[in-house]
Amino acid sequence: MRLGQEAAGWWREHCGSVVRNGSLVVALGRDLRELDRFARRTERHEFLSSEAVGVLEPDLAGRFGRALLFRDEAHLAPREALGALRHRLEADGVVFREGPAPESEGLTVDCRGLAARDVLRDLRGVKGEMIVLRCPDVALSRPVRLLHPRIPLYIVPRGDGVYMLGATAIESDDRRRVTARSLLEMLSAAYALHPAFGEAEVLELGVDARPAFPDNLPRIRRHGRRIHVNGLYRHGFLLAPALARMVAALLLYDERPELMDEDIPER
Ligand SMILES: Cc1cc2nc3c(=O)[nH]c(=O)nc-3n(C[C@H](O)[C@H](O)[C@H](O)COP(=O)(O)OP(=O)(O)OC[C@H]3O[C@@H](n4cnc5c(N)ncnc54)[C@H](O)[C@@H]3O)c2cc1C
Repeated sequence: MRLGQEAAGWWREHCGSVVRNGSLVVALGRDLRELDRFARRTERHEFLSSEAVGVLEPDLAGRFGRALLFRDEAHLAPREALGALRHRLEADGVVFREGPAPESEGLTVDCRGLAARDVLRDLRGVKGEMIVLRCPDVALSRPVRLLHPRIPLYIVPRGDGVYMLGATAIESDDRRRVTARSLLEMLSAAYALHPAFGEAEVLELGVDARPAFPDNLPRIRRHGRRIHVNGLYRHGFLLAPALARMVAALLLYDERPELMDEDIPER
């Protein structure tokens, strides 16, 4: 959480495209206890009455008895953010080359994600599936998280009636198959949030495996002339600014990062 707090400001400064409008957390009637549990585990939120939810998000008026509002939260569109970042780096003279990196005499910063398992033996994949929908009949102006013991879902508005629905978290290295069960569960949860999602157009299905260490925390590891930055798990966009800052401080000022492991453990 602490390392993620600098992310929204960093992405806005370097890439624009950050919307700072808070996020809403809701639960269906039978899962209302989940809302209290979530509130106990988190900070900087406030409980909203049903009326207050309707004032913030008119399309959710009357649908939830109460909700949690996290006013400080922000969201971004990842592809646009990465596109803008690349554009800016190229303008500064950085050269991008596609394909495997050649062996280098100098230091290499290795951010190969799950492909670095050839060296980082304790890295594993956590499969995530997501759906992009167009649903002009629903207007939401901030991400909404629906708590559910089995299918926690979040919906992020991308503008123009487009929504990203995510995401499953399954212990698996599979990065290719979106399963029927995952689609069923995510779409059912979206439908429970608002029945108009039943009429949505499916624009895209996405799947990937997130690189994670056993404790799900990121690591910077030095292995000879290679510095591995990995294990960003569910929080790559949230944690990348902090990790990049630490790697830069290591390279430029020899400052040891707080997330540094010296040795690569054997499996
Ligand atoms: C469905 C889903 C939803 C998510 N939602 C969020 C979210 O809301 N917020 C958030 O912060 N994070 C989210 N994440 C997590 C985020 O996507 C990951 O944490 C992040 O992608 C990890 O970044 P990475 O650069 O370490 O690895 P990756 O994104 O896996 O990138 C590794 C890159 O290395 C390249 N590569 C591999 N081998 C080589 C080689 N030999 N030479 C050169 N390049 C190589 C690969 O092609 C790839 O581009 C989500 C992930 C999923 C799957």
